[in-house]
Amino acid sequence: MMAHHAYIGLGSNIEHPQHQVLQALKALQHLPLTTHVQASRLYASRPIGPQDQPDFINAVALIETHLSPLALLDQLQALEQRQRRVRQRRWGPRTLDLDLLLYDDNVIVHPRLLVPHPEMHRRGFVLVPLAEIAPTLYLPDGTSIAHLAKKYRDVGLKPL
Ligand code: ATP
Ligand code: CA
Ligand code: CA
Repeated sequence: MMAHHAYIGLGSNIEHPQHQVLQALKALQHLPLTTHVQASRLYASRPIGPQDQPDFINAVALIETHLSPLALLDQLQALEQRQRRVRQRRWGPRTLDLDLLLYDDNVIVHPRLLVPHPEMHRRGFVLVPLAEIAPTLYLPDGTSIAHLAKKYRDVGLKPL
């Protein structure tokens, strides 16, 4: 069977965020049933929501995997736990956030999982790194990622 293409958004803004993201990228390479990982550069971005918190480091990774969407979500949440993520306020600081952005061209509506990630089309810190590794990618509804990303190219997003 062909491997599925899943795109993962990574973010961190406390406890050495650059290290957190690099460690998570390494961990993705060791996920079960996962053959290939390609990562964007790391980007620094201003936080969304509460502004009284440090800047974020963000990246996006493509993984080729035989994990199902929910099995992959379980794995991503286990990695968040392993990097000691403490859930406090919504959109508050975190050591590691791993969002499943896209899974092939699936549309998934499940109590634990919405794919495409419902906010990704209006987040520069997702779109710009995603367009870097997947310049010809489209959302399941036919929207071009490169087209969406263009709007955010200069919006306080710096490659490290
Ligand atoms: P946002 O979703 O706006 O980026 P967040 O990442 O801070 O906010 P979390 O607290 O990390 O939100 O996640 C809350 C819940 O979202 C998780 O328990 C998970 O079940 C659910 N969820 C739904 N869709 C997804 C997805 N595509 N990727 C990751 N988690 C998801
Ligand atoms: Ca998130
Ligand atoms: Ca999340």
